[in-house]
Amino acid sequence: MKTLSISGKTGNSIIAIGDQLENCNRYMPDAHTVVITDTIVRNLYENKFPNADIIEIGTGEPIKTLQTIHEIYEQMIRFETDRESFVLAIGGGIVCDIAGFSASTYMRGINFGFVASTLLAQVDASIGGKNGVNVAGYKNMAGVFKQPSFAICDLAMLQTLAPDDYRCGLAEIVKHAIIFDIKLFEFIEQNISGIENKNPVILEKLIYDSVMIKSTIVQEDETEKGVRKKLNLGHTFGHAIEKLTKINHGQAVSIGIVMASTLAGQLGMIKQYDVERITDLLTKLQLPVSLDLNKDLIFQTMKKDKKRQQDHILLILPQSIGNVFIEKMSWNELYRMIK
Ligand code: NAD
Repeated sequence: MKTLSISGKTGNSIIAIGDQLENCNRYMPDAHTVVITDTIVRNLYENKFPNADIIEIGTGEPIKTLQTIHEIYEQMIRFETDRESFVLAIGGGIVCDIAGFSASTYMRGINFGFVASTLLAQVDASIGGKNGVNVAGYKNMAGVFKQPSFAICDLAMLQTLAPDDYRCGLAEIVKHAIIFDIKLFEFIEQNISGIENKNPVILEKLIYDSVMIKSTIVQEDETEKGVRKKLNLGHTFGHAIEKLTKINHGQAVSIGIVMASTLAGQLGMIKQYDVERITDLLTKLQLPVSLDLNKDLIFQTMKKDKKRQQDHILLILPQSIGNVFIEKMSWNELYRMIK
């Protein structure tokens, strides 16, 4: 097992890579506990849950809403959850986002921790203290910054993940590599079959390197005033794609990364060879790299993104593999480029 930590203005977090769900008591206070989980994770792992009241939510992006939060508050009241209680999320990114938001706002905030059960949650969603839900289909429009006390990345749980859900996590790992770490990018290129077979040694390295990148950036800029914006590579396009289609987050991010890379190529900011290398790697990982969608619709949806400003948008574009920059682009220019 390896640990990393984040100490921020919104709390301190221990990230335990390779520890297990059954050891989560070691990280928790001796207090009344409410587990928030989803139907699939509960069916697979309830026998390993700690002693707790359990709130089960459904699955899929459409449940990441304020309505679900409201229902969770009602159940928490029924379970006599108070300020000393602890909320433990056991699940993927959706469970973590919903549980983190519920815990951070219930009674003005109670402590919470995560057992991240998907690759995407382990390398991204459980790390860094962003907790939120969608509003009217627009991603993460309501949310808070608050660090979980801990995030356990239980590698054994990844063995039961469906192939598509597993690949979604790979998209976020590739994202981290493009932003910060060409060596990690090369490692992925050289280990496609080990990754495909969920080789535990390879997985531990991918998760550790990814969490290291994310936690370092979060430590520097917890509330996304500067460098943390870089972690949104692929997400401005990706969020619009998620809103307009039924494809899941990691797949939308994969297409978003290719769109951002292509745009950077059109602007002459990145070599065509690097754009091809990025597209090639995502393709080898069996992630989607394009989608036939109405370009006007994408543009109109992007205009409602959180990262928009009145007359421009901030786009994260790769300059080379391992290096991205923040481009302020006017809406007119973006429209022209998308077309
Ligand atoms: P998810 O939570 O929907 O999980 C995917 C599927 O896997 C679900 O059906 C779930 O029930 C199932 N599952 C979970 N663990 C399993 C296991 N061990 N075995 C078998 N099945 C399992 O999706 P996700 O990809 O984990 O997360 C996507 C969400 O994360 C999106 O809403 C995205 O916006 C959010 N996100 C948040 C942040 C953040 O910083 N807060 C960062 C990245 C992504």
